[in-house]
Amino acid sequence: MTSAELAASIRSVPDFPEPGIQFKDITPLLASPDLLRQAVRLLVSPFENRGITHVVGIESRGFILGAMIADELGSGFIPVRKEGKLPWQTARKSYDLEYGTDCIEMHADALKPGDRVLIHDDVIATGGTAAAAGDLVRGLGAEVVAYAFLISLEALNGIERLGGAEVHAVLRL
Ligand code: AMP
Repeated sequence: MTSAELAASIRSVPDFPEPGIQFKDITPLLASPDLLRQAVRLLVSPFENRGITHVVGIESRGFILGAMIADELGSGFIPVRKEGKLPWQTARKSYDLEYGTDCIEMHADALKPGDRVLIHDDVIATGGTAAAAGDLVRGLGAEVVAYAFLISLEALNGIERLGGAEVHAVLRL
């Protein structure tokens, strides 16, 4: 099982959800027992024995592999959600999109100083969402140890928005 086989399983869907976007559909990878296991193994391997206390997963596809990564690392899992979805008191962060702004939230008591966090999403595109998630984590006093993505869309330079943080991307497309 190679990265090339993982990459070949990603389905590019043109003009979804809007014209001009090449959507990276990971559902064929998720549906394959071998590819799913390999993807989780490759996401986790740099972070074993790094003292990760929590994996933060970004709504919604970041929840799927994020929870599996947390299980492999023996860490807790924390969801970052779109505005208005979380039931308890939240910390929130607004960030700019190409047109307009978006807002993500995390429970205000989800993390505390001393916690060591790995932030995960399936895809990093412009990096705005991941950067905002990092701000939320640090705002609660915890440390962003690194980011782990299944796919980095390299042409969009999203990693440059992460302020020099350690970044692991399994596939750079
Ligand atoms: P970003 O532009 O990095 O803030 O991405 C916003 C969110 O949309 C992230 O959760 C990405 O996983 C997702 N996303 C952005 N572009 C794509 C794409 N081309 N294919 C799949 N997911 C995407």
